[in-house]
Amino acid sequence: MLDVIIRGGQVVTPSGVGQWDVAIQGERIVAIGEPSGLPAEAGRGIDATGKIVIPGGIEPHAHAAFRFVYPWAREAGHTAAFPDVMSRACAFGGTTTIVDFANWRQGGELADAIVHRDAIFKGNSYTDYTFHAVLVGMGTEGATPERGVEIPLGLIGQVKDLVQSGFTTVKVWTTNTTLTRARQMTDFGHVLGIMEQLAAAGGVLAVHAEDEDIVMFMSRRLHEQGRIGTEFLPDAHPNLSEDLSFRRVIRLAEWTGAAIYLMHTSAKEGVQAVAEARGRGLPVYAETLHHYATFPRQVYQTPEGPLYHTYPSLKEQEDNEALWRGLVEGRVSTVGTDAILCSRELKLGGHTIEDTVGGNPAVEERLAITYTEGVAKRGMSLQRFVDVTSTNAAKILGMYPRKGVLAPGSDADIVLLDPTVRKQLELSDLHAVDHSVWEGWDIHAWPVLTMLRGKVIVENGKLVGEPTDGRLIGNRKTMPEVLRGPAC
Ligand SMILES: [Zn+2]
Repeated sequence: MLDVIIRGGQVVTPSGVGQWDVAIQGERIVAIGEPSGLPAEAGRGIDATGKIVIPGGIEPHAHAAFRFVYPWAREAGHTAAFPDVMSRACAFGGTTTIVDFANWRQGGELADAIVHRDAIFKGNSYTDYTFHAVLVGMGTEGATPERGVEIPLGLIGQVKDLVQSGFTTVKVWTTNTTLTRARQMTDFGHVLGIMEQLAAAGGVLAVHAEDEDIVMFMSRRLHEQGRIGTEFLPDAHPNLSEDLSFRRVIRLAEWTGAAIYLMHTSAKEGVQAVAEARGRGLPVYAETLHHYATFPRQVYQTPEGPLYHTYPSLKEQEDNEALWRGLVEGRVSTVGTDAILCSRELKLGGHTIEDTVGGNPAVEERLAITYTEGVAKRGMSLQRFVDVTSTNAAKILGMYPRKGVLAPGSDADIVLLDPTVRKQLELSDLHAVDHSVWEGWDIHAWPVLTMLRGKVIVENGKLVGEPTDGRLIGNRKTMPEVLRGPAC
């Protein structure tokens, strides 16, 4: 007898959308099809009539327990919410996999980064999780605003081993982002070395790409002009910077044969650079954030401006629309959150281009906002919606077809989305922190059931999973077609 059958829903699969039943045995999907073709008996039947049945969301960009890097917050030792809080919000919002970051620490091996990071998540996550390994980056001991930590050449040699061990993504910054935070950028020579390793081993480079020279020059000039409020962040992180940096990183990827994942794309020029690269057949993938695609820079001028910020910055309305169009039409591959969960007080604690707190708590809202803005308002197909919230991240980050798809053999990570929910979001609908920039936002759907590997973890607004349910996803392997060209 089957363990679970999900009956009567509108099921979104790569081969189409239809009124099918989904059969689950243990942790896996075993069949999807007409009710007549499946066993009638199951341990549990779930009625999905009127619901859209989709694979659990994959959050490709999350920072649990983030140690704040802004001078005042760093000194006070502020840390963002731990994986239990983040993964609980994910579970409520229909996301079943979190991709967080494992920072290499000076003196350690690259593989140690995964082990250390896993210690924070293990037994403390309602959803599955995995990590991008971070080379240098925030939090590296020994880095100062003046001086970076040199990446030992031998460490770059370990990138190949890391990929072969099943952790296929490495993240770097091409900028220090602000004048005052500890150095985090990886210079282009080292990026070259890392890309060579990734290309050889079948990994993907995730990049926070901004042009260091432009960002630092603009920041210095804004300081000199006394224009350093939060509202000037787009001047410190202009479209020009994304344009130059994306193109430079893409060119290096082209030379080395590496596949790249450009995180938090914010500008129409970024979308354009990615589209051109993909037009040349390069394996270049863009992520944007739902709030980058929605809010223009003018929101920085409101008293709650800092709530909307993450680095690089919001841009103009035409950039918002280019990002949504990119998601709908295929130039932008994923929606991430850049998740950092903290209190409203902390998020409003910085007010300048140096110390405005980055990150967003909106992991729970991600699927519903993407559905609302994409499917309901801009004609995004249901399959495309699933692609940008789940499937593409699974493909690019090496988890497909275990994750990111409803298919026999895949993990039974399944979400029931109710498209009849039509309301303005209230804080009381959410389970993360004490604020949301989406408060009052009109939504056209909401997840009503979340299943992780065959186990229901949220049902009808109630958490029924445990923080011990989440597992580290190792053995990742990126499909050859994703590495060869723009496959998704
Ligand atoms: Zn981030």
